[in-house]
Amino acid sequence: MATLTMKYPEVKNYVGGKYVSSKASKHLDVISPLDGSLLSTVPLSTKEDLSDAVSVARKAFETWSKVPIKERVQVFFRYKTLLEKNIVELSKLVQEENGKTLDEARAEVEKSIELTEFACSLPQLIGGEILEVSKGVECRTDYYPVGVVACIVPFNFPSMVPNWTIPNAIALGNTMILKPSEVVPLSCIKIVELLKEAGLPDGVLNIVNGDREIVEAICDHPGIDAVSFVGSTKVAKLVYARAASHFKRVLTLGGAKNHLMVLPDAHPAMTASNVTASMSGCAGQRCMAASAMIAVGNSQHIIDMICEDAKKVVPGQNLGAVISKGAKERIEGYITEAEKQGAKILVDGRNCVVKGKENGFYVGPTVIDYVTPDMSVAREEIFGPVISIMRAKDIDEALAIENASPYGNAAAVFTQSGGAARYVIERASAGMIGVNIGVPVPREPFSFGGWNDSKFGVGDLTGKSSIEFWTKLKKTTTKWNAEAKTNWMS
Ligand code: NAD
Repeated sequence: MATLTMKYPEVKNYVGGKYVSSKASKHLDVISPLDGSLLSTVPLSTKEDLSDAVSVARKAFETWSKVPIKERVQVFFRYKTLLEKNIVELSKLVQEENGKTLDEARAEVEKSIELTEFACSLPQLIGGEILEVSKGVECRTDYYPVGVVACIVPFNFPSMVPNWTIPNAIALGNTMILKPSEVVPLSCIKIVELLKEAGLPDGVLNIVNGDREIVEAICDHPGIDAVSFVGSTKVAKLVYARAASHFKRVLTLGGAKNHLMVLPDAHPAMTASNVTASMSGCAGQRCMAASAMIAVGNSQHIIDMICEDAKKVVPGQNLGAVISKGAKERIEGYITEAEKQGAKILVDGRNCVVKGKENGFYVGPTVIDYVTPDMSVAREEIFGPVISIMRAKDIDEALAIENASPYGNAAAVFTQSGGAARYVIERASAGMIGVNIGVPVPREPFSFGGWNDSKFGVGDLTGKSSIEFWTKLKKTTTKWNAEAKTNWMS
């Protein structure tokens, strides 16, 4: 651990509105993927650190849960304005710790603002129902917060993914333990600072940094009522099973292998630029990234255009870095393995060095053709700016390849035929479908969430669908009229 040349002070936990030192004996370096420089260090917190934070969050829940929702969302109206005011600073921080381009970093802060806007609309959405169910007898429903919720987030969206959960869960009356990715813990500090400035009471949102050990402690802790997780499928399964074994409410979002099906009638230029942007945006480190393309029939002219477009994607300019040296090696390993297995590398992003940023972790855009469904590049999540092209004779063969994937986050079809698009929409086994859109992220109020091995649990984490996850429904039956005739139920 080298602390002398760090750009930022060491990361601390944030509990009860104060920065507190962890009891950790181990810390990790926080490295900027842009140039390999040391940004900070992050503690691998202990179970005791977590228990302290849970006690504070439980106490805060007693008061925060009783604040009327119209009052609670006022914090988020102010937070939205503060995000807008601080967008440049927050975007730069996201870029620095994650390695994406500044435009991409700004886009995720803009999405954080949209998520916050949705939370501000929650009072309009969670009104309960009331009905006279028999003479003089009424039933009504009310949404109650769940309690202390824990949110575990990945490295690839340091601002957006924490904001998938913070505004909705907290506006609905919960208090929270946030576990940032140990790889990108800095943006979360800025987020809690803005929320404090917006008037969020101390103790409502707390940060406990760490890695596997703290995640396992979150799953086991009796003071935590619900756990949300976003990350790889392997860990999503572990967290789901472990937290559920303690009878917690759990929703875990996992990895992806998203297929784009390109039909011969697709608009060539629009399709090529969209496929290229979908696979190379955020250096391919998106759970919604296009990772595999299935060229149906003769789509060679579109493949040629994709190669031309890919060559215009320049690392260090309009293509960011990947998260670590290990990630760069893993991605390049996939490309080399595919080549050895007989695939053809049409555009090769291996051994990429950006002048002036020689210590950064860059992989150039990569187009691999003649991939077969059995190859690792066809089956596994690469999480890099790589597209693996397979060939299919018709839509059914393309759908069979897509649906054989254990994942089910997103799938897209490129065509000018409404009938063909409808055919794919109905048959693709994925939670989010794009028609002529390679990264079909639903915008608020629509919710985000995949199927199959890309999500475990019921409902989605954002949008209207998240209301059920962050609340408990109370059903009250009332009779005030003593004269009302009783019947079988009252
Ligand atoms: P990751 O699974 O390695 O880490 C996610 C979180 O889990 C981190 O906070 C990390 O500290 C913790 N963690 C890591 N290993 C653990 C273990 N063994 N036990 C308990 N906790 C552990 O994921 P990542 O590398 O940070 O993020 C990339 C992955 O996230 C990709 O697979 C991507 O597809 C996925 N992702 C999915 C979505 C979605 O909406 N489905 C969104 C963003 C990212």
